[in-house]
Amino acid sequence: ASVFSSLDSIPYDEAYRVLAAFTKNPSPDKISLGAGVYRDGEGKPWTLTSVKQAIPRLPDNYDYLPQGGFPPFISASRKLLLGDLSERVDEKLISIQTVSGTGACHVGAVLLINSFKPKNVWISDPTWINHSLIWECAGPDVTRKFYPYYHAETRSFDFEGMIAALDGGAERGDVVILQACAHNPTGLDPSKEQWKSIADICEKKGLISFFDTAYQGFASGDVDEDAWAVRHFAERGTLELCIAQSFSKNFGLYGERVGAFHLLARDAAVKPAVQSQLVRIVRSEVSCSPSFGCKIVATVLNDEKLRSQWVEDLKTMSSRIRSMREALLKELQSRGTPGSWDHIVSQIGMFSYTGLNKEQVKELESQHHIYLLSSGRASIPGLTSHNVARVAQAIDAVVR
Ligand code: PMP
Repeated sequence: ASVFSSLDSIPYDEAYRVLAAFTKNPSPDKISLGAGVYRDGEGKPWTLTSVKQAIPRLPDNYDYLPQGGFPPFISASRKLLLGDLSERVDEKLISIQTVSGTGACHVGAVLLINSFKPKNVWISDPTWINHSLIWECAGPDVTRKFYPYYHAETRSFDFEGMIAALDGGAERGDVVILQACAHNPTGLDPSKEQWKSIADICEKKGLISFFDTAYQGFASGDVDEDAWAVRHFAERGTLELCIAQSFSKNFGLYGERVGAFHLLARDAAVKPAVQSQLVRIVRSEVSCSPSFGCKIVATVLNDEKLRSQWVEDLKTMSSRIRSMREALLKELQSRGTPGSWDHIVSQIGMFSYTGLNKEQVKELESQHHIYLLSSGRASIPGLTSHNVARVAQAIDAVVR
């Protein structure tokens, strides 16, 4: 018998199952609203114009990167994240390049687990699946707890539920995972006032805030607006702050795996030790991060003209997504589809939490060749002016 005989088969991640089922379906009418990727008005992958312009300028050099990452990328990523504040907090800000946002979430989790072993990690319910999985694999002794985030009846952010859970249940030193903007999967973010209250709770209870920022600039089209919450927490100066930063969506560099992990410590004295620990973790995991994508990002962000083009590109993506939200709402309203659908336009970012239930999602797939996650999460960039009427027609059919 094999030494692996005792292993159980584990179900595959649902997003990958949906993608595989979509790929296998031979129907020319199939529509993918599953994968969290941007598509242009023709439903095709889109390379950002700024990225296209940067590629011929990249250094012709495929050496390994330094252990902390590519320095021009690290400085640009800090500046993008924190704006002018990045210089003011420089001596307390520790950064390392990672294998995209997922790698940053993982490196941060390992750092926290190695350094002081938090008792609990608080994760929004619902959330991006990896928040739970990363902690389950990296720190099986850390209890994963879930704070309410979504109020199903009103299809809104459950602010009171979140505050009550953290205030009532969290203990000093617990970690709380927060999504900086364009919450995946709900598309619902706290207001600025609500963010202030969440920061108050983190401060009062002595919690480590762990931001995941995967949609900066992609959500609203404005990089500063989308960084508001992170910067607010950073400006307080009283909080210990972890930040996992992804460049997958806002640069369209999904497969190139570009990301960074940052720790804003309360005390500058810890910087050398934390930096060395981060280098050790990355060394053990990947030795050093991939070099192609980070050079694109650094080239764009460090050049005034390319950066302006990138800002245009962000507007192109965010405004197409917004117009597709409006088009879907209009199509549903014109059919008199039962239920209220205004949330489709009030939600923000890549996804809409449609409110469709498991059976309805199943029927969309089996009867209409339309693919989304069983939670009802639909990736809005999968919509185009050519297919939105058909999607509305199918939704109308499954909810009646
Ligand atoms: N966090 C959230 C909330 C996400 O939705 C994603 C992308 N699906 C990521 C992090 C990181 O993705 P990546 O590893 O591709 O950067």
